[in-house]
Amino acid sequence: MTLTGARERRVRTGGIELCVAELGDPARPTVVLVHGYPDSKEVWSEVAERLAGRFHVVLYDVRGHGRSTAPTPLRGGFTLEKLTDDFLAVLDAVSPGRPVHLVGHDWGSVQSWEFVTVERTEGRIASFTSMSGPSLDHFGHWIKQRVRRPTPRRVGQLLGQGAKSWYVYLLHTPALPELAWRGPLGSRWPKILRRIEKVPDGDYPTPSLRTDAAHGAWLYRDNVRSRLSRPRTDARAHAPVQLITPLGDAFLSERLYDELERWAPRLTRHTLPAKHWIPRTRPDQVATWISEFVTAVESGDPAPAANGRYAQRFAGLLVLVTGAGSGIGRATALAFAEAGARVVVVDRDAEGAARTAEQARSGGARSAWAETVDVSDERAMEKLAEKVAGEYGVVDVLVNNAGIGLSGSFFDTTTDDWRRVLDVNLWGVIHGCRLFGRRMAERGQGGHIVNVASAAAYQPSKALPAYSTSKAAVLMLSECLRAELAGRDIGVSAVCPGFVHTNITSTARFTGVDAAEEKRRQERTARLYGLRGYPPEKVADAILRAVVRNQAVVPVTPEARGARLMSRLAPKALRAIARLDPPL
Ligand code: NAD
Repeated sequence: MTLTGARERRVRTGGIELCVAELGDPARPTVVLVHGYPDSKEVWSEVAERLAGRFHVVLYDVRGHGRSTAPTPLRGGFTLEKLTDDFLAVLDAVSPGRPVHLVGHDWGSVQSWEFVTVERTEGRIASFTSMSGPSLDHFGHWIKQRVRRPTPRRVGQLLGQGAKSWYVYLLHTPALPELAWRGPLGSRWPKILRRIEKVPDGDYPTPSLRTDAAHGAWLYRDNVRSRLSRPRTDARAHAPVQLITPLGDAFLSERLYDELERWAPRLTRHTLPAKHWIPRTRPDQVATWISEFVTAVESGDPAPAANGRYAQRFAGLLVLVTGAGSGIGRATALAFAEAGARVVVVDRDAEGAARTAEQARSGGARSAWAETVDVSDERAMEKLAEKVAGEYGVVDVLVNNAGIGLSGSFFDTTTDDWRRVLDVNLWGVIHGCRLFGRRMAERGQGGHIVNVASAAAYQPSKALPAYSTSKAAVLMLSECLRAELAGRDIGVSAVCPGFVHTNITSTARFTGVDAAEEKRRQERTARLYGLRGYPPEKVADAILRAVVRNQAVVPVTPEARGARLMSRLAPKALRAIARLDPPL
């Protein structure tokens, strides 16, 4: 496997030869990617290709891995001190006069923590992005703290990480790991990566895997016990650090990084719902975060671009919200923008969309675009999907929120009324899921779809037959799609609000009455919803939380939660309520 367009050279250091590959223009800022265990530099190929247009990208095979030579003897040849010598030798070759941006995954990150915290690299590293690999020194202190002052929570954390580290103990046994890797484990590893880690098919891992894994066992043996038992007390990062934590990492607990600011005061955090091998499974996200961080540091401003409760999770993601010109959609678009996401604001009301996008930008959003589209118009939605994919990228979070209200008995509801409400409330959601969801699925890097249904989806009412039917369909569609997309790491949530104070009451249609009566009912409903006073911002918060927690069905407002409970425990009572006349 070769990296497309890479230039290769050999760098000699301490009796070994390192295989170094470079992509992109050497005049640009240099990003050095360090691979983990068991791996070679090719783990970075997808990320490197995405970065090469903007940066000078450098990758090297760690000693004993890939096409770099191994030290003899192996024992003692992999100490962090020697790995630091190698790193500096690579820097002297590829970027002698300018500090580099360091990125490490797994053991690449473990050793990079050493590079960024020792004195002899000061001035050579401009920034460090760490993924799934803690500093052994920080880890040592983390363990010591918990052993010295054990509370039930701390003991739980220790045991939790202890269980996740099972392979580390095995790697300390003599000869066994080498035998396993050169034998059955080596031949099964590609399948294990695909099945368990969901690493896509392709020419990764490289044929050097067995040797990489056998040699790399010395990374553990040469460093882990000694560092964990005597961690350095001065392991403070001398460059800004960006920490990317995959929340589904089978080997590392996120609790390890709880007090990281103590060691890395200039810290930016990101989390993503993924397993350990994110350079292979989430290259778009990883490349975007590296790119943004490097650019921010180069411009002298490494502070996190967004704050707020959800910034770690959504900063830099592309989010599309329909019906975002007003009410719940607007509040949702603004909440995502505040969390640092790039937002596409879609509404059939051009002015409303433009206002929301403007508000997002003036609130500090890095990118917010307004698009005028009727979600029920399939052709227009197709055009929108093409434009978004071409200009902004694949949507990471889709919120199908656009909807209209319709009230009136079944026999007062004309077929045109039915068509209109189903076209917007159901077909609008179907178009969104088909067009944006398909691209999400094809990209193969996860994502999330939120469909805004309603408590009316499970609470029958003689006053809302068409509206409730459309929302019940959205709820079931969401459940079915959730089942279908689960295997592709795409979550689907149905959010079901109760009464929320928005414009919907003033625009909802009332069938079977004349225009004057319709107006009176709209005004009266608007007053009632106003008195109820539940703000759309709270629904927006529930939507962001639904994505973070990957919740299936989310009733919002106490009455929506109550009705959901009744639909399960006391459906008869709910049916009795359905017969009541609405307060009009
Ligand atoms: P809203 O009227 O304030 O906002 C809806 C937005 O959707 C408007 O900006 C409107 O222009 C847009 N829209 C309507 N039809 C569209 C179409 N065909 N194409 C593109 N945009 C369109 O209403 P809201 O209360 O914020 O409603 C948002 C969603 O929440 C709807 O799906 C609604 O059914 C649902 N909901 C609302 C409540 C509530 O009490 N407000 C309760 C439950 C569910």
